[in-house]
Amino acid sequence: MTTLELAGLSKSYGGRKVLDALSWRFQAGEFVAIMGESGVGKSTLLNLIAGLDAPDAGRVIVDGQDLSRLSDNDATRLRRARMGFVFQAFHLLPHLTLEQNVALPLVLNGMPLGRANEMLEAVGLGGRGADFPRQLSGGEMQRVAIARALVHRPALVLADEPTGNLDPETAQSVLALLVRELKANGACALMVTHSQAAASLADHVLVLGRSGLQPRGTAPAPGQGL
Ligand code: ADP
Ligand code: MG
Repeated sequence: MTTLELAGLSKSYGGRKVLDALSWRFQAGEFVAIMGESGVGKSTLLNLIAGLDAPDAGRVIVDGQDLSRLSDNDATRLRRARMGFVFQAFHLLPHLTLEQNVALPLVLNGMPLGRANEMLEAVGLGGRGADFPRQLSGGEMQRVAIARALVHRPALVLADEPTGNLDPETAQSVLALLVRELKANGACALMVTHSQAAASLADHVLVLGRSGLQPRGTAPAPGQGL
């Protein structure tokens, strides 16, 4: 089972500190919801873990391996094999069919492709595999992105508002799929969400604020935060 540790992660944009020495240790097999006000740095945090952006300071440690100490190739290989991402903007490839989009992690990891169609069916898009992303609604694209994030049974799933474009019923069914996959694979997941219903399915809820990550319901210590 995969563990994830953040050690002193800092990130500024244009001289403004978004994340300030953030540290947290996620337990193996844990499903954590991350909440917090808009603009507080939730997407930035996931992007740093995903390697889409580099921290100014600090480390992302997966299974005891500091990703910044790996070569670019090795870090890419590790992320590709062990992580699954649902980005806020979906990042579907426009020239690939839905089936090809979902199969991409399987192709990149040299795995059998059969599960791509199973995952499309699981998110309610069975039979749409030959369509292209431009033919989909936002909610449908989000479901394709979720299928793609889970298809290679990643050990760590990073999901940025994965149900933000879904109606409550579809959101529930997609989240049920996510939970089922996480438990079946013993995977760890960080899910950014504004939805109480989504957060209630997680093992823990953390709130990202100016003083860093806090378990929900705990006030910042005196002198911390603003
Ligand atoms: P959240 O996901 O919590 O709403 P973000 O992580 O997207 O917040 O953004 C946090 C802050 O960092 C915001 O003020 C945003 O404008 C800024 N920011 C995020 N990414 C960039 C970037 N690539 N360049 C400049 N500023 C950025
Ligand atoms: Mg965001």
